[in-house]
This record gives sequence, C-alpha cells and structure tokens, in this order.
Amino acid sequence: MEVKKDVASSKTAKGFIRPHLAVTLFTLLVATACFLLMLFVLDRGEQRATREQEEKTRLLAHALENTVIRSFQDVIGRLNSIEEALILNPDLLAQDVDALNRILDDLLALTPSLREVVVHDSAGAWIASSRQRPPSDGAVAGKCNARLLQNNHLDYLILEPQPGRYLGGRSPRGNQQHIPVCVLLRDSLGLPFATATGVLNPDYLKELFRPAHEMNPVLLELYHYNGVLLVKGEGGAAALHDHLADLFRSSLKAREYGTYHQTLVTAHASSGNSVITSYRSTSPLPLVMLVHLDLEKGLSAWHQEARFVFWVFVALIAAVLMGGSVLAVALLRKYRMESEIQLLTAAISSTANAIFITDQQGKIQWVNRAFEKLTGWRLQEVRGQTPKVLNSGEHDRRFFHQLWVHILSGQVWRGQLTNTTRDQRNIIVDQTITPILNQYQEITHFVAVHEDVTARTRAEAQARFLARHDALTALPNRRSFAEALGDALAMDDAHLLAILFIDLDHFKTINDTLGHQAGDEVLRISTERMRGQLPDHALLARLGGDEFSVLIRSLNHTAEVQRLVEALLQVMAQPVQLGESRFSLSASVGVTFGQAGQDDAATLLRQADLAMYKAKHDGRNTFSFFDEKMDYAMHHHVKLEQGLRAALSQNQGLLLCYQPIIAAHNLQPVAVEVLMRWRNSAGEWISPAEFIPVAEGNGLILELGRWQLRELFERLNAWQQGALRGLKVSINISAVQLARDNIAEVLVAKMFQHGIRPEQLVVEVTETTLMTESTRLRENLDFLRDSGVSLSIDDFGTGYSSLSYISELDAHLIKIDRSFVQGIGKSHSDEEIILATIALARNLDMRVVAEGVEEGEQRDFLIRAGVDYLQGYLFARPMFESELTDFIAGCRRQLTATVLHD
Ligand code: C2E
Ligand code: CA
Ligand code: CA
Repeated sequence: MEVKKDVASSKTAKGFIRPHLAVTLFTLLVATACFLLMLFVLDRGEQRATREQEEKTRLLAHALENTVIRSFQDVIGRLNSIEEALILNPDLLAQDVDALNRILDDLLALTPSLREVVVHDSAGAWIASSRQRPPSDGAVAGKCNARLLQNNHLDYLILEPQPGRYLGGRSPRGNQQHIPVCVLLRDSLGLPFATATGVLNPDYLKELFRPAHEMNPVLLELYHYNGVLLVKGEGGAAALHDHLADLFRSSLKAREYGTYHQTLVTAHASSGNSVITSYRSTSPLPLVMLVHLDLEKGLSAWHQEARFVFWVFVALIAAVLMGGSVLAVALLRKYRMESEIQLLTAAISSTANAIFITDQQGKIQWVNRAFEKLTGWRLQEVRGQTPKVLNSGEHDRRFFHQLWVHILSGQVWRGQLTNTTRDQRNIIVDQTITPILNQYQEITHFVAVHEDVTARTRAEAQARFLARHDALTALPNRRSFAEALGDALAMDDAHLLAILFIDLDHFKTINDTLGHQAGDEVLRISTERMRGQLPDHALLARLGGDEFSVLIRSLNHTAEVQRLVEALLQVMAQPVQLGESRFSLSASVGVTFGQAGQDDAATLLRQADLAMYKAKHDGRNTFSFFDEKMDYAMHHHVKLEQGLRAALSQNQGLLLCYQPIIAAHNLQPVAVEVLMRWRNSAGEWISPAEFIPVAEGNGLILELGRWQLRELFERLNAWQQGALRGLKVSINISAVQLARDNIAEVLVAKMFQHGIRPEQLVVEVTETTLMTESTRLRENLDFLRDSGVSLSIDDFGTGYSSLSYISELDAHLIKIDRSFVQGIGKSHSDEEIILATIALARNLDMRVVAEGVEEGEQRDFLIRAGVDYLQGYLFARPMFESELTDFIAGCRRQLTATVLHD
C-alpha cells in the first residue's frame, strides 16, 4: 500500500514543471518583455522627438517668413515714399538732382537693409542715386524698367542676386552680391514716370536669420519663386531635394507651405544627413522661405535621453536576469537536496537490511520497513522506546555495557546479536551501530543496521553438525569417532579402553530385497537397540554403511566388555518387523583393547576391524577378540601391497608365464593361459592367488592389467614367426578391470597394433565377475565379443550366475573349476556337476575346458564325459616362454612320430 502511494505521489510531482525551470522561464519572459518595452519606448520617443523637430522647423519657417516679408515690405514702402516726394515736388526731378540725391541718401540712412537707392526715368536713364553717381552698368535698371512698364499691374520687382556691392557692380572683393528691388513711380495722374531701385544687402537678411540659426541646427535659405536662391544663411551647403526642386520648377503658388524629410549628402558624411525641410511661399512677395533642420543634431537631446532610458532598461533586464537566476539556482539546489533526501529515505526505507535510528539517549526515532518486517514491531509502537524491546536475554549486562562504552566513544560497533521479535522468536543478526556526529563532533544519533543471519547461522551449525555426525542416525561419524579415540589415547593416565567394531550381517541382502528405505529403517532400529545396551560413558558412532563402532573409556576389566558384547549380540539378534515383512537380524563384532598413552588410534581401529572379519569368518552373529596372528596377516597384506607397488613402478620382478591347454581328442596343445608371476625384492615367489586379490582390493589391478597386456602383446608379435605360431592365448581379466577401466578398448587396440587376429584371443572372466552389476563391465564384455574375441567363463560352478545372462553373453567356453575336477573318483556330486555342466554347454553351443587335471583317472573321466580341452599339471605346469617353446616343439615332434608310426 505504502509503496503504491509513493509511486502515485512521484507521478503527480512529475506532472508539474520543476520550480527552478519555471523561474528560469519566467525570468526570460520578463527580460524579453522588458527588452521589447525598451524598443517600444525608444521608438515612440524617437517618433515624438522627430515630430517635435518637424513642428519646430515649421514654426521657424513661419516666423522667418514674416520677418522676411516685413523687411521686403519695408524696402518697398520706403522706395514708394520717393514717389510721394516727387509728386509733392516735381522740380526735384528736373532741376534739383542734388536735393533728390540728398533725399535718397536720407532714405538710405533710414533703411539699414539697403546699400544704395537709384532713380531712373521711364526711359531707363539715370536720374539720381544715393551715391550721387550713376551705376557703372545700366543693365539692371533697364531690365527693371522694361519688366515694370510692360506689366502694368506690377508695382515692384525683386531681381535675382547680382554681383558686386552696388548696382552694376563687378564684385571687386570676395563674392559680394546684392539683390535689386525695383519700384515703379507714378505721377499724380497715375502714369509711370520713373523707377526707384533699392540695392538690398543680403547680409542684412542673413543677420535676420542668425538668431534662429544660432539657436537651432538649421540652415536657412530664401528663394525666389523662379527657383533662384536669394539668400543662404550660414551652416553649410544645402541642396534641394528633388521633390522641392520639382515644386520650384512648376512654380509655387502663394501661401503654399509644407514639410519634407530628405537626406542631404554633405561633404563630410557620405551616408548623408537626415534633414527636415520646411518651406513657406509668401503671398504678397514671390519669395520662398526654407528651413533645413539637421535631424541628427535636432534629436541629440532626445538621443541623450534615449541613452539614459536604454541604460535604465539594461539595468532593469540585468536585475531581472540576475534575480531570476539566483532564485532558479536556489530552487535547483533545494530541489536536488530534496530529491537526494527523498532518494536516501527511499533507499533506507526499502533496503533489505533492518535499520533503526536512535537519539543520543538510545531512544528509537525511526525504523525502516525491513525492521518492521523482521521484528514485527511497527514504528509507532517502538518510537521513543529503547532497543531493549529486542533483548532476548541471550547476552548479559556486561555485554551491553561494553557495547555502549564502545559506541559512546564515537566508534562503530560490529557484532552478532541474538534479538527477539515481537512474537518472541529469537533471531540472530549481524549488527552494525554507527554513531552520527554533528559539526561539533558530538553524537546526535545512532544508526543500527542489522542483517538477519538466523538462517545462515543455523545452516552453518547444521553443516558443522553434519560434518561430524551421520545424517541418518545422528550418531558421530568416523571422523569424530577417530578424534574422540585420539583424545582418549592422548591422555597420560594409562587407562584401559576398548573398541568394538560392529557390522550387521547380510545387510546388503536387506537393502537389495526390501529397498533402501527399509535398509535405513534397519540402521535406525539397530542404533536404538545398541544405544539401549551401552553405558553412558560409551561412545557409539556410525563409520559408514552398516558398520558401527563403540569406544569404551576408563575400563576396569576386560570381562566387562565380553558381557556387554554378548548383550549387544542378543538384542541385535531379535527379529525385526518392517511393515508386512518380518526377518531376523544379527551382527558380527570385533573387539580390541588399548591403553592411553601407549597405542595409536589407527592401529586400534584396524585391529578391531580385523577381529570383526574373523567373527564374520567364524559364521557371523558372533564376536571375536583381536590377537597377534591377525596382526601378522595384516602386516603381511600391507607389505605385499607396498612390494607390488614398487615392482610395478620399477617394472621389476613381474613376469608372465604360460600354461598349455590340450585338445581332448588328440592331447595336443592348442592354447596357453597367460598367468602372472611376481618375485619380490627378497627373491620369494608370490602366488597370483595371493597378490591378485590384494591388487583388486586397492585398485592396483588396473595398472597391473595394463602392464600384462603391454608385455603380452609384445611377445605375441614375436610368436607369429616361431614355434609358437598358431597357439591361441587365454587372458585373465578381473571384474575390477572390467568395471573400472576401458580394458576392452585397450586390448582390441593392441591386437590391431600388433597384427593379432581376434580368433587367436580368449578372455577369461570368472563366473562371480558376471554377477557384478555394472554397465561398464557389460559394455567391456560386449565390445570384446563384438570385436571377435572369444569369452571364457572361468571357475564355473563356484558362483550362481543366471543362465539367461550366460546365454545372452554368448561366451565361447566354460571352464570347469579345479575343485570339481579334484572330486572325480571321490565325490559323486562333483562328478554329477561336471556332467551337468557339459550338458549345459552343449545346449548353449559352448566348448568346455577342464582345469586342474592332475591324474590320469581324472583325464579319462573328463574325456569320456565329452570335455573339449584339458589343462593341468598332468600335461604341463605354467612355464616361461623359453620352456614353452621347447614344450610345444617336443609335442609336435611326438605327434609327427606317432603319425609316422601309425
Ligand atoms: P585361474 O584363472 O583359475 O588360473 C589357474 C590357476 O590354477 C593357476 O594358478 C594355475 O597355476 C593353477 N593350476 C593349473 N593346473 C593346475 C593343477 O593341475 N593343479 C593345481 N593345484 N593347480 C593348477 P596361479 O597361476 O597361481 O593363478 C592363480 C589365479 O590368479 C588364477 O586362477 C587367476 O585367477 C589369477 N591370475 C593369475 N594370473 C592372472 C592375470 O594375469 N590376471 C588376472 N586377472 N588374474 C590372474
Ligand atoms: Ca583362469
Ligand atoms: Ca580357474
């Protein structure tokens, strides 16, 4: 349930954008908005400032237009005043030129805008001038007269600027110019009679422009309607925009005005200057006033302001970005810390080890789920309690005292504890207690982690028990028995002790017939029975299989042991009831005595074992005490084994001999049986009947068998040419070899290697071998037969092999055991067995060999009975190769002689 809740909450958390990301996003948004707002404000500001400049230009043009008009009207008015003077005093024109000149001079003095005033008659002839002399050139006066007189309604004329300071001047210095203004003078009748020309000083007008120019980044120009520039104020060159030029060309109408934006290319800035141009054409006069405003300069105040606004915004954006990122980083840290804590909490909560955390006093503050599961205590039940709730009572106060001293010193404690759970079960835990220190190195908490090792510890104890005990009967096993015996013997009090070796009789039969479960049951019953008879100080152990052993320490008298053994045999001999079946049981017991400080365990165990074998030999269900003779036999056995090992490893003393086998019909040798001989290092001949069983017992037979085959096949190869050519060879192979070695393959391989035909070979296996249950053994035999090697069943009659298996085996020969042959003429039953065996062989289509033939009587009986081959001392003893060669040659010679004789 809790786990599900966690998952659900983590899912919803995922649904939201993480706070630090949200803040980052928001910050960027605000910063972008600020930036856009800044662009907007700056743009608006620029537009507004530009409009203001436009307005200013227009107002300036308007103001200047009035000023210019007033100036020109003043000039025209003053020139017209000459007309009044001449009407009042017509003589001035005809006689008193000097007076007229004076009047003109006075007029000039009153009009600062004029440099000169000149009067011509209607024919264009000079009359008077403020400078009292005629102009050097009369062209201008002529032009004025002509235009004014032609155009009757025209009262004045403003001409384009002329060179020089005065009328008709030649511009002696610099580029001085003047603007002639002509006025038509009429008499009292209204008829034109003269013209007055005022020479207007352009500098005067420039002076009028100056204040406007000085206060504003403007260039002022005054044009004539016809497009001629009359006056140009200071402040660089301006060229008319195409549009304006067009306007002038099409000639402006009175009172027209307007404003244009244009880009003027100046000498300094190739990119051009933005200029606002405002023009006004005046109505009474043919003049156009132009004001060009340099926008860059005009906006400079705004630009300064804009820079300020820009930096204010930059500061604002920077502040927003900085504040936002600080907040985002803080949130990110918090988020990471939170998820780290969440992770740690989840990890600790869900870890498999049980964990609890206590405060400095040892009061439990928190436990994880594994703890609740392991101990059965829930957090709310143990919070505030001490870990005493877990105390199982297994550890004393001192233990816990030491533990506390250890952890209070700031060290980690590790150890195994037995705790108890809520339902009073004991559990074993591997516990680690770690003190948690704060920054002042003071202990604030303890964290205890435990791993439940109950199962492991119990399994280990179980394994330890099993290593020393038998699982079936729970008795000590061979190892612990040997140890206990060793310990008892190691004591130096010279006490007497006895060892009993107990082996159940016919246990194998019970196992085979009733099954292993019944066998186990019998072992358990036997254990119980023996336990019931043994005194407390006796140690009963199971050594393996159906073998038991008893150690009796501190023995007072050997007679005690005899009574005990008799009682044991008696109780063991009681019948056993297992389900339906009831059967009798018995045991054989071997006993030996030892003395602490004198004997060694291995020897005593061997002695008891030997005594037990003696008891078995004596007919079972009895006991036997160990004596020295048994020991001798055992020593002999050990010496034999060592000697054989040495002989094999040094390839010394081992030999092969061969006993001929005779055909019954002509008494001629047809085969030899290969027999092993061993001469030990002391020069004694040891019979294979003695050393072969030993070699079979310890596995040396495998090596011995391989040696035999190696040796034999080398000889056989040589026989192919000599006197021994054509002799069959019969090889003995024991059950151990067949069951544990790939002897058949080795033999067949050697056969091919040495060029021997399979028909030349016979392998003898004893009848008891055939009774061994082993797949390998069967495979070996099948392989041999399938390779064409004949099989011979040796010592036939001594075992109880099944006839069905013998027929299945498809052997060639049956070898009647020597013991029956010896009974010929003495034991009727032996003779019967021989006859029955021969009959059986006939039925199974097998040949019969009789071995151990020593007497003529035996030979005759056997021949009469229909035996195929004979083997025995009567014909030949086992012999070495050289003797065999002589023997065979002798036989052949004899045969030839007989044939010739016949
Ligand atoms: P076995 O296979 O029954 O071999 C015949 C034994 O009877 C031989 O004893 C042979 O010397 C002996 N014997 C032959 N004729 C007579 C006789 O007329 N009277 C008496 N009393 N004995 C006779 P040996 O050589 O001592 O071999 C004893 C046993 O050792 C053999 O019995 C065989 O089981 C085993 N053995 C010998 N050599 C080998 C071998 O190379 N391999 C294996 N696996 N076993 C071998
Ligand atoms: Ca044999
Ligand atoms: Ca035999």
